[in-house]
Amino acid sequence: MNRAKRIAIFEILRELNPRPATELTYGSPFELLVAVMLSAQATDVSVNKVSRHLFAVAKTPEAFVRLGLARLRGMIRTIGLYNTKAANLIHTCRILIHEHGSRVPSDRHALERLPGVGRKTANVVLNTAFGVPVIAVDTHIFRVANRTGLAPGKNVREVEERLDRVVPDEFRKDAHHWLILHGRYVCTARSPKCAACPIFAFCEWRGRHQAAAGESRAGARRSGDRPRRSVA
Ligand code: SF4
Repeated sequence: MNRAKRIAIFEILRELNPRPATELTYGSPFELLVAVMLSAQATDVSVNKVSRHLFAVAKTPEAFVRLGLARLRGMIRTIGLYNTKAANLIHTCRILIHEHGSRVPSDRHALERLPGVGRKTANVVLNTAFGVPVIAVDTHIFRVANRTGLAPGKNVREVEERLDRVVPDEFRKDAHHWLILHGRYVCTARSPKCAACPIFAFCEWRGRHQAAAGESRAGARRSGDRPRRSVA
């Protein structure tokens, strides 16, 4: 994909959503870190349900340690991998207290040393809590980058490195959220909504015309199935 198309894509995404934000609910860098750690293999909706109650009783690393592993486990048990996540959270809180003055560090190396924090989580925290223009490649961004031709790569690291090289500076800070939201709601894994896609004209996925035509046919069938109203 050439630079002009990339710019066109980001200009459209920016126009539609000038201030994109994470769908996770949080009130501080610490709460964001907790929410992102909980969100691995879980939906933002399920994390928000849990974190609403959790942050009402614990908002700091000290409060999490006081809460204790057993109670924390109980509070997050509706989320996948809750046993491991609870243990990582308590361990992470202890490190934050003893090594970082109870604050979330704003550098990648320190973040990635926290239990349960990998490169993707570190990138989300750096971008969303500290405004660092990095792009955390999750399953949605990986798919969108490859399918559209924006930044193809065989694995998430390759896609991240290519996005770093090709996303113009002015879009870098928000590219993360634009691409996630586009993948979550439009360029979905199954049945991408090509007919309604705002970046259709610049996407390079070969199947987009066929997908759009299929959607139109399905839409026509649905409206044709509706019972006709009597005009008498
Ligand atoms: S046209 Fe289709 S494949 Fe391309 S970005 Fe839009 S939804 Fe995704």
